[in-house]
Amino acid sequence: MCVEQRGSWELPAAWCGRTRSTCEPEGLSEHGVMDDEDPSPLRRFVVAKRSITSIFDQLLDFVKDGSAFVDEVWRGDDLGSVAVEEQSLELQSCETKLRTIREVLLRRHMKVAFFGRTSNGKSTVINAMLRDRVLPSGIGHTTNCFLRVEGTDGDEAYLTTEASNERRSVSTVNQLAHALHMDPTLDSGCLVKVMWPKSRCALLRDDLVLMDSPGTDVTLELDSWIDKFCLDADVFVLVGNAESTLMNTEKLFFHKVSERISKPNIFILHNRWDASVSEPEYIEEVRKQHLDRCVSFLSEELKVVGLEDAPGRIFFVSAKEVLNSRMQRAQGMPETGETGGALAEGFHERLREFQMFERTFEEFISQSAVKTKFEQHTVRAWQITEAVKAVMDAINIASADRKILCLEEREEQRDRLDFVRGQIIRLSDSVKERIRTLTEDVAAKVAVVLTDQIRSLPVLVEEFRADFSPTQETLELYKTKLLQHVEERLVGCLSHRCSTSVLWDVRDTQSHMIDSVRPLLCPSLPEALSAPSAPFDLTFDLGLAAICADFRENIEFQFSLGWTALVSRFLGNANAKRALSSADARRQESSSFKDEMVVSIATGLVSVTSRASMTVLVIGGVVWRSVGWRVIALSVSLYGFLFLYEKLTWTDASRERALKKQFVAHAAGRLRAVIPAVSAACSQQVYKELWSTLSRLSQRVDLSEAELEGNIRTLSFRIQRLENIQRRSKAFRNRATELETQLEVFSARYLQGN
Ligand code: GDP
Repeated sequence: MCVEQRGSWELPAAWCGRTRSTCEPEGLSEHGVMDDEDPSPLRRFVVAKRSITSIFDQLLDFVKDGSAFVDEVWRGDDLGSVAVEEQSLELQSCETKLRTIREVLLRRHMKVAFFGRTSNGKSTVINAMLRDRVLPSGIGHTTNCFLRVEGTDGDEAYLTTEASNERRSVSTVNQLAHALHMDPTLDSGCLVKVMWPKSRCALLRDDLVLMDSPGTDVTLELDSWIDKFCLDADVFVLVGNAESTLMNTEKLFFHKVSERISKPNIFILHNRWDASVSEPEYIEEVRKQHLDRCVSFLSEELKVVGLEDAPGRIFFVSAKEVLNSRMQRAQGMPETGETGGALAEGFHERLREFQMFERTFEEFISQSAVKTKFEQHTVRAWQITEAVKAVMDAINIASADRKILCLEEREEQRDRLDFVRGQIIRLSDSVKERIRTLTEDVAAKVAVVLTDQIRSLPVLVEEFRADFSPTQETLELYKTKLLQHVEERLVGCLSHRCSTSVLWDVRDTQSHMIDSVRPLLCPSLPEALSAPSAPFDLTFDLGLAAICADFRENIEFQFSLGWTALVSRFLGNANAKRALSSADARRQESSSFKDEMVVSIATGLVSVTSRASMTVLVIGGVVWRSVGWRVIALSVSLYGFLFLYEKLTWTDASRERALKKQFVAHAAGRLRAVIPAVSAACSQQVYKELWSTLSRLSQRVDLSEAELEGNIRTLSFRIQRLENIQRRSKAFRNRATELETQLEVFSARYLQGN
């Protein structure tokens, strides 16, 4: 089963067009220093890794912010489902995925795995590439372990094993060989990490990991090897032996690898090619044999590369020579052969082939690793930005929809507020006018009824029955009861004739007010319009006892033709009395100027008549002489008889009648005087009742207005928040698009083509 889709990288055209002998890679220095003009192809991976890591860093920050934003919108649930919990959870899960991917990315490196039989020179090839004796060689494979060489930032070389993370210093190759030999915990097929200072090896600075294997001939556990160490390898190098052909175990191993990995990048090194120098006549023939077999193996058996491209994967090298040469150069010594003598024949050609292998390998591994290590993550990043965009779009649309609803609702509320304000002004004007009219009507009605009642006062008084006696105490009691009786009857009659219609008018006006106000109130104030708790009733307070407190009856006998009666008839009771007691009359403080005048006239008249009495007697004497004494006697008798008659008929009943008559006159006068006050009091009651209803309703309308204003404020605030959400979701979307552009650029630069 294939676990990774590998790119089938072709050998660059510039390389394929050349023959091995003339192909001298440009810009490569034997000192391993990559200058600026021709940086190592491995830098491509390093730069790509930095680039994708930077994109993921930005993406992580972006998704973190986006997640916080969505969470905030979702939790601000008063906005009504602008964001939902699933969206918040989705962004949280994106954040978690990104963190994981970012960590994986940081650990990503290029990995080359070396396989082949023991003693074919795998360790020597690795050392030659690293330009130093890092791994022990020449003693057969020291252990059955996998040795993984990678760079460390420190200056100390050390190793760690699977069993222990303890760092064991291995500054020299001998220390390493010793450590590997002496460690009893190192099982067959286990992994030992050799951490080599990057400062001592340029190759390791570029995130390259090299792995030496125990030798395909020493194990039967090829499957577990592949699962454990090969699935993440970007390039496989089969180190063969120039002296012998590929063995079945080696072939079997690569068959198994290509079952697991689709089109693995395989290079075949025929090492120890310097040994062929001893038989120069056969060298080309041998080389051709090896080449044909390996081409057939790669293109026909494994089918990992085309027939034309297969030779570009096969190299004939001498790792030992290259390592020696590089180490001598590094130490500033002249290049010599193995024994210190002259360089072996064909050395430079083999060196160039080794360099070509390195260059080709670097091209392949960096391109392959970039694709296999970053492509999936780029796709995931793309999926995440798409997911975030979808969430932001949904939030943007939902907030826009919600905003439109809020704007409409706010417009409605504003219209309603204007309507309520206009209506309440109009209503209050019309209601005030109605109250004014009604109170005037009430005043007029009460005045009319009271006037009628005053007219029928004699009847009311007449129908009063109580014990009457001219004694002072009985008289007071009688008058008190009379007052009560008259007041009760008057009030009863006023109630009967006024209250019902007034109450009806008041209720009608109240209903009118309530009906007019009801449409102005918010639905949340339903209880507002019930009638007041105390029902209205019109009360009449005549205060009869108070206004008649100064009533003084006169029930003394008075002869109707007597002098006082005549004067009284002429001047009225009160004035007559005062006139007749002239000395006191002038001192009466409460009399009016007009009364004073009348009294003075009367007093003058009395004094005149007194003075004239003698004259009358004289005239009487003359008359008596002329008409005769009989007529005079008859007249005097009649006068006397009449006096006697009246004196005899002056009983208690007469006195009661006189009192009632006097009371009627007195009370009528006083009541007439209080008509305006009584009617005003009644209209005041009506006014108060209606005004209190109006102000109660106005208060409710004020509350409604306040509620509407509150609603408008809330809606405005919501609209602002929704606009903010819209703006932010759009910004997030734009940022996602920016990141996608970066991913596109990355993809175009590192993942597409070739
Ligand atoms: P490994 O077991 O595959 O790792 O092989 P080594 O790297 O340990 O090499 C085994 C032996 O082969 C050592 O003695 C090396 O010196 C020798 N050797 C390696 N490469 C070459 C080469 O290119 N030419 C010659 N002549 N000997 C080599």
